[in-house]
Amino acid sequence: RPAQVITGRFAPSPSGPLHAGSALAAIGSFLSAKSQGGRWLLRIDDIDSTRCRPEAAGQILRQLDSLGLTWDGTLRYQSQYRDQYTAALQRLREQGLAYPCDCTRQSLAHQPCSCRSQPPRSPRAWRLDLHTLLRAPWQDRYLGTQQFIPPEQPPVLLRADGPFAYLLCCVVDDAEQGITEVVRGADLTAITPLQQYLQRQLGLPSPQYGHLPLLYDANGKKLSKSDSAAAFDARIVWEQSLQALGWETPADLHGASPDDWRDWALAEWARRWDVLE
Ligand code: GLU
Repeated sequence: RPAQVITGRFAPSPSGPLHAGSALAAIGSFLSAKSQGGRWLLRIDDIDSTRCRPEAAGQILRQLDSLGLTWDGTLRYQSQYRDQYTAALQRLREQGLAYPCDCTRQSLAHQPCSCRSQPPRSPRAWRLDLHTLLRAPWQDRYLGTQQFIPPEQPPVLLRADGPFAYLLCCVVDDAEQGITEVVRGADLTAITPLQQYLQRQLGLPSPQYGHLPLLYDANGKKLSKSDSAAAFDARIVWEQSLQALGWETPADLHGASPDDWRDWALAEWARRWDVLE
């Protein structure tokens, strides 16, 4: 068997253009894969059509281009693979690991979901049964040992309003795309052990996981798409992102082209590989 090619990915949700925080995930995942001679794939996480904006995917592709980030292979649009998510859910059902649920947000505010033991007459959603999940610490490539933080409710796999949940789709997509390393923002740290659990139950390989720092505004609030502080400015995104990783960036690169930043950062990433550990 040929040696596995290191394969990273960036998987934006097209709910709007990239902002400074999501650009950091793009840059970090690119640098990690490329500095190891690997491939960097792009996936558009558009399964939840209620959150997608039609123009956003195109905007994101142009933004990546403006940063000098070129992806390998063909783009994967999540919305085209519902049959694969259906098959994965079916497999979990056969294993008794997915169960129907008719709880609503309101009912859950008063009592925990008990649909596992008392199956509802008219299910609205499907949830993942976590009772065989080992609540063990796990290793993040950059953050080190992470404690398992149990979710408040068993996670949803198929939502009452239609779409499959990102939790499940992402696991199927990463396996289908042959992803060997997931580098993404720390807002997704807590769901990683749930994704690793799904990989084990579905017999899928598990990538390595590394979570990058989140960006905060001057008031210490996490940057969000609606924030003006988070606006994407291709001229400063490289510098801003590398500084967010705690790097001191050379003064003579200030104002340099994205391609110059990229080439410098690729060499630096390889050299500082353990900088965040
Ligand atoms: N689409 C997800 C998001 O934008 C990220 C998925 C991932 O990197 O696993 O939050």
